[in-house]
Amino acid sequence: MSTPAPSPPRAEIVVDLDAVRHNVATLRDAVGGRALMAVVKADGYGHGMTEVARAAREAGAEWLGVAVMEEALALRAAGDTGRVLTWLAVPGEDYRPAVAAAVDVTAYSVAELDEIRDAARELGTPARVQLKVDTGLSRGGSTEQDWPDLVLAAVEAERSGEVTVTGVWSHFACSDEPDHPANAAQEAVFRWAVELAERSGLTPEVRHLCNSAGALTRPSARFDLVRCGIALYGLSPVPEVSTSAELGLVPAMTVQGRFAMVKEVRAGSGVSYGHSYVTAHDTTLGVVPAGYGDGVPRHASSRAEVLAAGRRRTIAGRVCMDQFVLDLGDSDAQAGDPVVLFGPGDAGEPTAQDWAEACGTISYEIVTRIGGRMQRRYVGKPDSPETPTGLVGSYGEGT
Ligand SMILES: *Cc1c(COP(=O)(O)O)cnc(C)c1O
Repeated sequence: MSTPAPSPPRAEIVVDLDAVRHNVATLRDAVGGRALMAVVKADGYGHGMTEVARAAREAGAEWLGVAVMEEALALRAAGDTGRVLTWLAVPGEDYRPAVAAAVDVTAYSVAELDEIRDAARELGTPARVQLKVDTGLSRGGSTEQDWPDLVLAAVEAERSGEVTVTGVWSHFACSDEPDHPANAAQEAVFRWAVELAERSGLTPEVRHLCNSAGALTRPSARFDLVRCGIALYGLSPVPEVSTSAELGLVPAMTVQGRFAMVKEVRAGSGVSYGHSYVTAHDTTLGVVPAGYGDGVPRHASSRAEVLAAGRRRTIAGRVCMDQFVLDLGDSDAQAGDPVVLFGPGDAGEPTAQDWAEACGTISYEIVTRIGGRMQRRYVGKPDSPETPTGLVGSYGEGT
């Protein structure tokens, strides 16, 4: 039985796994000898968690990092057997599946450590635990004041055989501004916290502080391991300082679609909701079938550019839930012709960083929120060069 030819996608996310592998290699070179954790939380920043994880492993990532335990378990379900760290839970969460799956979990407090110990005791398996210290972000992690108690509780838990402390770590607040004084201050607190842990008898396998920006700009803070998210996807973590190209990174995501309709209208036609754009001349309009229901930010209205009919064009008026409109001037574009919202930028299309600047946000938010009804397709896989994986959906889909 023959499969019907797939209809060309209305709007799609193309993820270049070769770019991911290239970025992992670039980061590994940059941090010379330190372990690399590929951060694949939030569905791989919108690129597909399990697919990106697999590509990152192929390129040598020793660790995967995700925020919550369900993400780690989805990685296990997809066949990943390597080291995985999680770092965000609320009281009462069931740690047993993560402990049983040899996932490293993070404790911010003695109360959290106690919950992890309970799970380990029930399972009869020691839990792998990393301790997080808040060195100045004032988000998760033990305060400096509470750190000695957390360390003592962890020493005790190790003696009881319930846990193995595999790491001590923290997170920067201002690493995207390499000269910000908070970076040095946080590094100093981190050194103090590590020393206290080691003097108390803990022997963490990995000490780590850097995200992508820290890894690339602050060699003194690299310790044993760096946790890279945004750079893995080829986007600059320090856009005010260096472009992704200057850092040797290749953006992995391209978002593109095809005109649902192209038509001629008169001068003075109000375009899209609110008529915030009015045609100056008789002109041609193109309707692009992607909107904020697909993660195209409404803040892109009349601001962000796309590549269509041979050049960059600013979105005409409001982005709607399912669609937006372009003023194509006297172009002879046809319904079905391609429109590139953003991509690596090497064919004249804008980048996710360009979109971030147009929308008043960061590239992280642009790529992570793209999805909805768009198809996701992977290129650059060695086994099957082009793999349609259907609508963007829950973790592990299409694997
Ligand atoms: C998301 C996250 C990272 C990755 O940060 P990037 O800036 O994307 O490299 C690293 N560590 C923690 C704790 C995170 O939550």
